[in-house]
Amino acid sequence: MNPKQLMLLLNPKGQSWSPAPRNAGKAGTVQSQLRWEDVASALGAGQLAPLSYYLVRAKYCQDDSSVEPLLALVLKETSALAKANRWQARKDTLQSLAHLACYESLDTQLCKSCGGRGYSQAGKACRVCRGYGRHPMSARARYRMAGIDKRNWERRWLSRYEQLYQALCDAEDCALAHLSHQLGS
Ligand SMILES: [Zn+2]
Repeated sequence: MNPKQLMLLLNPKGQSWSPAPRNAGKAGTVQSQLRWEDVASALGAGQLAPLSYYLVRAKYCQDDSSVEPLLALVLKETSALAKANRWQARKDTLQSLAHLACYESLDTQLCKSCGGRGYSQAGKACRVCRGYGRHPMSARARYRMAGIDKRNWERRWLSRYEQLYQALCDAEDCALAHLSHQLGS
């Protein structure tokens, strides 16, 4: 199973992990092939970066207790980016940005247009998801949630935010690749 197929099976909005098997019988007779417990233990096996670990536990294993450590890690990542790139920003702006990145990452679904690859068959960046492989939130929803005005967002914060959001997309991709390796299917 490749990571993108795995992502399709791991529907964050779903109640449980239940990939539809081929030649499924009558409704109700089909057993799930993998349980959340299997996914959780596969996540814990081997070396997975904490950001990847908590992100996938919170997003796909419905583990609410992972949200707080995830947010703390994203805030750390935000502060590191701010320091490395010399962003002039108040602490509460960085906190809002971290919050938004967490929310968007937990909420977004795989892009249907490119199947999560982020690029078209011709190898160009997907127009729908702009290469993220996920449906991004609208610009308006983003700046409103971050509490930053439109002009300031477009001028200063959008490109910074996209660096942060990309780091979370990478962390998720990394965890999904790890899972498909660990689950060995
Ligand atoms: Zn796409």
